[in-house]
Amino acid sequence: MAIVDPIINGLNSGWLHTDGSQLKENQQFEADVVIVGTGAGGGVAAEILSQAGLSVIMIEAGQLRSSTDFNMEERVAYPNLYQQAAAMKTSDKAIGIFQGRSVGGSTTINWTTSIRTPTEALAFWEQQKSVKGLSRETLDPWFEQMEQRLNIHEWKFEPNRNNAALKQGCINLGWDYTVIKRNVAGCWNTGYCGMGCPVNAKQSMLVTTIPSALDKGAQLFSRVKVVKIEHHNGKVLALKAQALDSNSKPTSVELMFKAKHYIMSGGAIHTPVLMMRSDVPDPHKLLGKRTFLHPVLLSGAIFSDAINGHSGAPQSIYSDEFVWKNGVAGELGYKLEVPPIHPVLMASKLLGHGKEHAEAMANFNQFQLTIALVRDGYHPDSQGGQVRLTDKGFELDYPLTETFWRAARRSFASMAELQFAAGAMKVMPVSDGMPYFTSWKDAKEGIEQMTLAPLKTVVASAHVMGGCPFGEDEKLSMVDSYGQSHYLENLSVMDGSIFPTSLGANPQLSIYGITARNATALAQKLTDGREPQ
Ligand SMILES: Cc1cc2nc3c(=O)[nH]c(=O)nc-3n(C[C@H](O)[C@H](O)[C@H](O)COP(=O)(O)OP(=O)(O)OC[C@H]3O[C@@H](n4cnc5c(N)ncnc54)[C@H](O)[C@@H]3O)c2cc1C
Repeated sequence: MAIVDPIINGLNSGWLHTDGSQLKENQQFEADVVIVGTGAGGGVAAEILSQAGLSVIMIEAGQLRSSTDFNMEERVAYPNLYQQAAAMKTSDKAIGIFQGRSVGGSTTINWTTSIRTPTEALAFWEQQKSVKGLSRETLDPWFEQMEQRLNIHEWKFEPNRNNAALKQGCINLGWDYTVIKRNVAGCWNTGYCGMGCPVNAKQSMLVTTIPSALDKGAQLFSRVKVVKIEHHNGKVLALKAQALDSNSKPTSVELMFKAKHYIMSGGAIHTPVLMMRSDVPDPHKLLGKRTFLHPVLLSGAIFSDAINGHSGAPQSIYSDEFVWKNGVAGELGYKLEVPPIHPVLMASKLLGHGKEHAEAMANFNQFQLTIALVRDGYHPDSQGGQVRLTDKGFELDYPLTETFWRAARRSFASMAELQFAAGAMKVMPVSDGMPYFTSWKDAKEGIEQMTLAPLKTVVASAHVMGGCPFGEDEKLSMVDSYGQSHYLENLSVMDGSIFPTSLGANPQLSIYGITARNATALAQKLTDGREPQ
């Protein structure tokens, strides 16, 4: 059966798309709204604003790629679809970070787990971070709307063996677990979501909101990077952008974009970087601070039977047993999940040397990986990272504090206990020099003694949040609870950078729901002048 490529069909039907690498001359473009970035925030905003009858321009630094290009090969996917070819790291190189860079942003390559913002996070934001109007009751209808739009449903099929081990361990230990809701329609269960969905089952922005906006006449620029927000007297005047060539290097072509309203949706890290580079007013020096990662620890296990973690829905079970256990602002909690296991990802991220690494790779098909996502940003000793501008671009400093390492040690113990309870033969906390343990008792003792340290202990993240927080108090926030800038009257931020803490849950649905609310209010304001209530 031929796979229909909605992007190729859309382009053939006359969508307005400009590939920056093809541009030869400086030019200027105009619309009611210009959106920077086409990920979770940018995609949803583009659909809602164009449905409201506004003319919309979407600008994306990455390439336009679609199912015809998604050949399920890591060597193709990482350079084409990820920021820094999936090799981004914090400034001390202690944390590896994954973020998307193509039309659809990180949603094109994400693993489809869809979770509403936890009530604990919403309450903390209201009480501590001056966020207004985002209670469970007011937000749930927006989540519901986006769940319907993106076909978000509980995964009805058997979890793959990687996720099944997580489930079995939880059952045997009496721990909480949940079947994950996924944004898929007609999923083939291939397990290659991280390389772009080859069959367009994943309801990413690439195949949902962006085509819908283009059908309504919106204009898409790919391989165009916005480099400056031109502003004066509390108003944005234009965006200055550079066209990129086929290697993502700037060409000499400069573009100007003008609009009534501008939306920053470049994601955490890149939205704050663009705003800092443009000298946007920031009297309380908040931009780039409190960037959160849900830093992730990994525990590998070898089972006697095949796990085949590369195959089947990458995430279908999670456990919240430890997320909020010590109170919201107490000792850091962690969510337990599993990631997809593909050879390049595994070989490059597992580190370890010699025998252990060779053993893990030799047992690739029997290898099970559990991850603990640490909930950062609530405890006083968990302030996240700070993005700094450099001559070449930016750096993210992300100190790993004693409080974090205590959580890491607890999470290694939980993961080992879980994996043995699920029937693992051996378990290895992924930290340099750690052996495989063959019993929970030995693992427990070993984990109590193990040295945890940056560069020694593998820490990674695919969840980047914060750096341009929302709220009503200008000492705590850059934009209000609707994403409207406190300082520039025609600028809004709609992406993961607005979160004042991490979420304690995978971020995409939080971004979809909150953006839907905020973009709808903006559409009303721009079409009939009404201010949001
Ligand atoms: C491998 C992976 C797996 C993940 N799995 C899940 C999951 O299962 N569930 C979940 O909830 N979350 C998951 N996430 C995270 C989730 O996808 C992101 O949190 C979410 O997409 C962030 O949305 P955003 O709008 O903030 O930014 P993004 O979706 O990252 O989009 C930002 C876009 O803006 C573009 N951009 C940035 N700066 C500029 C500029 N100056 N000019 C033009 N364009 C620019 C970028 O190229 C990018 O395409 C995953 C992420 C990754 C990388």
